Amino acid sequence: MLRRTNFFRLFQSNFCRSKMTVVLDIDGTLATPGKKIDSKTIRSSDEKIGKIIIAAEHEHHLYSYAPQSIRYLYNQPDVRVVFFSSGIKERNDEFVEKLSKLAIGSMPVGITILSRNDLIASKKNKIYALGYGEHKKNIMLALKGDCKIENAAIVEDDWSYVDAEQEKNLIYSPDPRLFSEFCIDEYFVRQNKMLFITGVLDICLLNFRRGIPVTKTLSLMPNILPDGMGRPYKPNYDLPKQRKFYEHGLSCLKTVDPNVILKETFPDVICRQGR
Ligand SMILES: [Mg+2]
Repeated sequence: MLRRTNFFRLFQSNFCRSKMTVVLDIDGTLATPGKKIDSKTIRSSDEKIGKIIIAAEHEHHLYSYAPQSIRYLYNQPDVRVVFFSSGIKERNDEFVEKLSKLAIGSMPVGITILSRNDLIASKKNKIYALGYGEHKKNIMLALKGDCKIENAAIVEDDWSYVDAEQEKNLIYSPDPRLFSEFCIDEYFVRQNKMLFITGVLDICLLNFRRGIPVTKTLSLMPNILPDGMGRPYKPNYDLPKQRKFYEHGLSCLKTVDPNVILKETFPDVICRQGR
């Protein structure tokens, strides 16, 4: 007899072709880009343990639990993971292949990787709710089969890449280097960033399985707020300060690695000062 989870997976893979699309940025979202390597700075031991990834001859310092988060997402039969970075294709391909190997031991077949050449120039006459940026990531490029735009999320640290009318698809995950601007403890965000991303994505996924569009779930969090400063919307900077998302992400990642923990520094790590 099929166990319930196996039955669910069979159902998902054979009968429900529609998937939730998760578009992941790389720099500032999964890793901090580091220096160019030379013979003195090659750190293959750090690469082996998943601390850094060397791609296109540059170091990339992975955020804690990035491989576990990717493993969790790859394990979901109704999630389609797409990488979309403004980096060059060679760098992105090498990075994703190495990250996938750290996550599940191999590169899954058919993973879509979008790169600098896939960016589109901003249309001058368009209103960009989250602000103007020279280039945009149109996540329609990431959709396949009968996947719908309302069931897609783009995880970004730089909202200027979000295309017009795709603001509601954003999961804003600040680059930890910007912690002072957003008044979030840098250590907490840096160490727990992947828990936040996984937590928010999994809540979207649970609702998606109940027939609730991803953009609807994000609107309830909410992911964007009225700007009041001339633009229609701004990202909700308070979202990454909410502990419940980190705790939910922790419960997800513990299913793929029981050693994952929430890394605390101070008793009260979330800044209470408003933005
Ligand atoms: Mg980025």
